[in-house]
Amino acid sequence: MTAHPTSDYSIDTVIVGAGVVGVAIARELALSGLDVLVLDQEKSPGQHQSTRNSGVIHAGFYYPANSLKAELCHEGKQELYRFAEERHVPHRRLGKIVVATEEGQSAKLEAMHARALACGVEDVTLMSSDALRRMEPELGGVAGLWSPSTGVIDAMALLDALQAEAGDHGATFSFASRLVGVDKHSNGWMLRVESGGSITRLNCRVLINSAGIEAPKVAQHIDAYPQERVPATYLARGNFFTCRGGAPFSHLIYPLPGPIGLGVHLTLDLDGQAKFGPDVEMVEHISYDVKPERAEGFYDSIRAFWPGLKQDSLMPAYSGIRAKTGKPGDPQDWVIETPSAHGLGGLINLFGIETPGMTCCLALGRYVAERLRQEDLIPLHH
Ligand SMILES: Cc1cc2nc3c(=O)[nH]c(=O)nc-3n(C[C@H](O)[C@H](O)[C@H](O)COP(=O)(O)OP(=O)(O)OC[C@H]3O[C@@H](n4cnc5c(N)ncnc54)[C@H](O)[C@@H]3O)c2cc1C
Repeated sequence: MTAHPTSDYSIDTVIVGAGVVGVAIARELALSGLDVLVLDQEKSPGQHQSTRNSGVIHAGFYYPANSLKAELCHEGKQELYRFAEERHVPHRRLGKIVVATEEGQSAKLEAMHARALACGVEDVTLMSSDALRRMEPELGGVAGLWSPSTGVIDAMALLDALQAEAGDHGATFSFASRLVGVDKHSNGWMLRVESGGSITRLNCRVLINSAGIEAPKVAQHIDAYPQERVPATYLARGNFFTCRGGAPFSHLIYPLPGPIGLGVHLTLDLDGQAKFGPDVEMVEHISYDVKPERAEGFYDSIRAFWPGLKQDSLMPAYSGIRAKTGKPGDPQDWVIETPSAHGLGGLINLFGIETPGMTCCLALGRYVAERLRQEDLIPLHH
């Protein structure tokens, strides 16, 4: 720890990461009157998970009832719909069907229904095969679960709206600015930020690590942070394919979740274009290439609920990499580490903010602000 550092700049609160979560936190803190700077290594916001996802506003019924994901998704979904309506962010409440394709899966569907109710998602209903057919004539399945409050949103427009509002309340953004080192000192943190080949030193009182899949790496840069707490990182790429000729569905269609992930599902964008994905491909490095041969694994999965899918109709679209801190398949909740957990005043780490992080961005922003208040990191007059 250095006693009294010399810095190039001083700012009260720095957020590392201009994904949808970092920007939503910035908005919330700026609304609370804090002086906030958001750093991102890329030239513009949302270049990683936040625009490389399925674009779905989740209803919140996949997660254990007492988990942070369940708690924040229930309220986060409603807040996000309200925000999108008020700020004219394109979105559509399309509704989603989770489909059981074999008789043996009906019990799982019923368990999912019970879990949804336990999570406070009360608008879901079970569907018979006749009801499925009436709603989606081309859908193959023996039973379904209908979720009317699932929807889709334009992720980039959401980010723009959040950034604009944060900026209107005084938050500043610095792009092409990569955090490369952090030293603790008596009044807070001294950050080393690389930009255009040179290093700038920046002094702050509160540091929020919202760096998505790279949050563990950012934690490694923090000299005083107990390195044994840095979670393992697993990079699980999810590939998406579009379908030549489109798909004959007007709702989102999901299979029952498998041991890993939610299963290859069909989502629709705001123009009604269908896309399928994401699968799970473990990778060593961050790279977003979609290998055309990954389509092979998609045909069987999709035909289980859409027998009419034509061979050779899938085309590579894009991919995203999930922020996993456990092996895919291991149950994991989001980790939001505050000073009372790691003992370092003025530091918050967000680890493993995978799905439904976009749905919950506003709720996550509020949650982080509440933690800061509880730990006396937001002064009382704010
Ligand atoms: C394939 C896939 C599908 C998904 N589908 C959905 C969905 O349908 N609905 C939903 O709600 N959620 C979905 N999610 C999850 C959702 O996208 C994420 O939870 C959310 O985007 C996380 O936002 P974030 O801001 O934490 O991370 P990110 O968007 O990844 O942002 C982190 C930022 O940190 C920056 N950064 C990293 N290291 C540094 C550094 N050293 N210095 C400066 N900047 C740095 C990066 O450049 C990046 O911009 C999906 C995710 C994936 C990958």
